Amino acid sequence: MDILTLGNDLLRQKAEPVRPIGAEYVGIAEEMIEALHAGKGIGLAGPQVGLSKRIFVVQVEGEAPRVFINPTIIGTSQDLVKYEEGCLSIPGIWAEVMRPAAVKVQAWNEKGRPFTLDAEGILARVIQHEYDHLEGMLFIDRLSVPKRDRVLLKYEKRRVRQHPPKA
Ligand SMILES: [Zn+2]
Repeated sequence: MDILTLGNDLLRQKAEPVRPIGAEYVGIAEEMIEALHAGKGIGLAGPQVGLSKRIFVVQVEGEAPRVFINPTIIGTSQDLVKYEEGCLSIPGIWAEVMRPAAVKVQAWNEKGRPFTLDAEGILARVIQHEYDHLEGMLFIDRLSVPKRDRVLLKYEKRRVRQHPPKA
């Protein structure tokens, strides 16, 4: 699975619910986890691999991978924390983003089994980042305009260096 990068329209679309959660989702989740490992990331959402469906996979250090299908964030903590985020779709860019420190999420796994999870720390962070992808939102959208302009400029410069224009 190839990972789409900033500029691809699919990253800006609201993803569709998975209905029904068919047997093919076991394989799709597996492929997404492989792509996540290949990209050395901690989370990957359907739209990032060209699948505009409400699914994401997450794996934080020391834990097994988790699959979230049709997730709903049903609760967030009052306290907000700053944490440096990056994104497999915006390689080479990191920025601090403020978000709730803890979330409660309800979702289904790849076998169609429902679950509810209380997450905090890095797990809460990655769940919120991936959930945003399902809404067509990227972490840079949560930065102040001057800060977003700065990181986008940096991203463009980096891209031009990697793919110099052919004269
Ligand atoms: Zn991302």
